[in-house]
Amino acid sequence: MTPDQHTALYAVVGRPVRHSLSPAVHNAAFSAAGINAVYLAFEPPDMGACIQAVQTLGIKGISITMPFKTAVIPYLSHVDPLAERAAAVNTIVNEGGKLIGCNTDGNGALKALEEKTDLAGRRVILVGAGGAARAIGFSLKDKGAVLSVVNRSHEKGEGLARVLGCRFIPLNRMDAITGDILIQTTPVGMGPHIDLCPVSPEILKPGMVVMDLVYRPVETRLLRMARERGCIAVSGLRMLIYQAAEQFRLWTGVDPPVSLMERAGKEALERQHDDL
Ligand code: NAP
Repeated sequence: MTPDQHTALYAVVGRPVRHSLSPAVHNAAFSAAGINAVYLAFEPPDMGACIQAVQTLGIKGISITMPFKTAVIPYLSHVDPLAERAAAVNTIVNEGGKLIGCNTDGNGALKALEEKTDLAGRRVILVGAGGAARAIGFSLKDKGAVLSVVNRSHEKGEGLARVLGCRFIPLNRMDAITGDILIQTTPVGMGPHIDLCPVSPEILKPGMVVMDLVYRPVETRLLRMARERGCIAVSGLRMLIYQAAEQFRLWTGVDPPVSLMERAGKEALERQHDDL
């Protein structure tokens, strides 16, 4: 659809954001659904300037990425319960000037995991204690999963374990724990450092479900090791697409074309790889 005077504007904001797959994924979805909208990427200096632009230009929806997921909260009219508990907003819906903050990371992760496993009663090892881990942790707790938080820094790890009501294990002592599901939420293993993996292979047991939030590359070292040891691997790209699909539904009220969004994400990743 050619942009015109009626075209609605959506965007992802973060710093850096030029590598984001979200423009490819959301523009493909708008186009397939016949919605007159475009989705761009911006790197504002701070959230105050960004929110002013959203209000002035009437931008209809925003994806928020690092480092603004927490900093945006004071500027919003309302924050949904998961985003409030996680202290992280990854989506803004502009309802006629009222800015609603939401978090779709938790549900995106659950949907990707639920394709492979039930969650109630399952022992989940959550590696990392940042914004993504918080959203996923609260979503899993609501599903009845039994969590353990593993993190490099004790302060952050213990803090998340406390609010989730679960145990904390320092990253360098994680070998001793067992679980049914492992979720890797740190940036370790992301390109160009693709040979790194924060998880020791010993804890990967056959049948375990292993999800890595890193999706660049899609097959991380952790996921490769997991497959080699008979685990069920879940890629971060799957979660990314499901969280984007929920954003699309929040913004438009339309069923998201999930397969097409995933294809657009994969093609954008391949193009970026070719550009290197
Ligand atoms: P964040 O708030 O900055 O948290 C980062 C976490 O990773 C912290 O717990 C930090 O531990 C840990 N960490 C960082 N570097 C580490 C290292 N070298 N060794 C061990 N631990 C390390 O980040 P976030 O927003 O949660 O995002 C985390 C990752 O998830 C990013 O790569 C992001 O791109 C990805 N993500 C993916 C999706 C998806 O849809 N696939 C969605 C959201 C986020 P300390 O406390 O010790 O610093």
